[in-house]
Amino acid sequence: MPTVRAKVVVLPGDGIGPEVAREARRVLERLVPDVELEERLLGAAAIRATGEPLPQATLDACLGATAVLKGPVGDPEFDAKDVRPEQGLLGLRGALDAYANLRPAVQDGIDVLIVRELVGGLYFGAKGTREDGTVFDTCEYHPREVERIVRRGFELARARRGKLTSVDKANILETSRLWRRIVDETAPRYPDVEVEHMLVDNAAMQLALAPRQFDVIVTENMFGDILSDLAAAMTGGLGLAPSASLSDGGAGIFEPVHGSAPDIAGRGSANPTAMLRSTALLLEHGLGLREESERLTAAIEGALESVRTPDLGGDGTTSDVGEAVLARL
Ligand code: NAD
Repeated sequence: MPTVRAKVVVLPGDGIGPEVAREARRVLERLVPDVELEERLLGAAAIRATGEPLPQATLDACLGATAVLKGPVGDPEFDAKDVRPEQGLLGLRGALDAYANLRPAVQDGIDVLIVRELVGGLYFGAKGTREDGTVFDTCEYHPREVERIVRRGFELARARRGKLTSVDKANILETSRLWRRIVDETAPRYPDVEVEHMLVDNAAMQLALAPRQFDVIVTENMFGDILSDLAAAMTGGLGLAPSASLSDGGAGIFEPVHGSAPDIAGRGSANPTAMLRSTALLLEHGLGLREESERLTAAIEGALESVRTPDLGGDGTTSDVGEAVLARL
């Protein structure tokens, strides 16, 4: 039977997106020359070209892809408009059902992987305004939504150092009590994984004070949003932080945590490390190429020793970093 060629859809996005995506493309072309790369528009770039932040052609390409490598989207020009670049991103995550957001934070003995539920909870529950003027957002989880992300957490912990910290607010919230019950029901299927429960306020403090105790943290959408930015800040900042958003079976989305950085766009000074680390996640989790992923990660770490962009106190350019990584592959 002929093997199907893997396809990566590259969405450069807006602002510094195309600048950092160019370096990621060069790395993929070098490391996995057999993989097909297809570039599509998303965000402000797509609105300008088609009127839509997520054009049908982009969506179709992503639905047919093995993995999606995405740059940041967003442009201040559209902040007050009805059609906004960020709608394209949320639409894409929803269409691919990319529910498991992986946010690794690694530095100086800290090696924590935050697994955040991405398509449920407070950000997606019923919201509105009552007659008396009260505004509300609701946090809702169906057991199925919790089960699948908790399973992911266990699987990832099993493949790492075998420790899973489930973060909730079970002393207050019903959704957290559901979460905790499902973690406890799932645990016996993973006897090789050590599980602990931690309340979210304590988790924030423990992350700041003693981050080396953590291996994998699994948590719901909003808690994960906040804790993963804290972890990113503690391990070098936005220019370094990658993410993966995985579904069951479909294409995952691999993207830097940072935004489109309009303040530095077009200068060639953006740090491509977060995008390149996202590319390493794509190789491992999107294409199943762990060895290539490790080679890229080692090359990125080596390059950081010799060249740094201004956000890290250096004077290197985006392509200087890309060249330094390519030279080590
Ligand atoms: P931002 O991450 O774009 O920028 C914050 C600060 O970090 C800026 O000073 C910027 O110059 C710097 N920075 C970010 N990435 C960098 C990099 N790779 N190298 C060097 N410096 C970097 O956040 P913001 O300013 O709040 O948002 C700008 C736009 O990005 C907004 O439109 C926002 O909606 C969008 N955004 C998109 C995503 C996404 O696509 N996933 C995520 C966050 C923000």
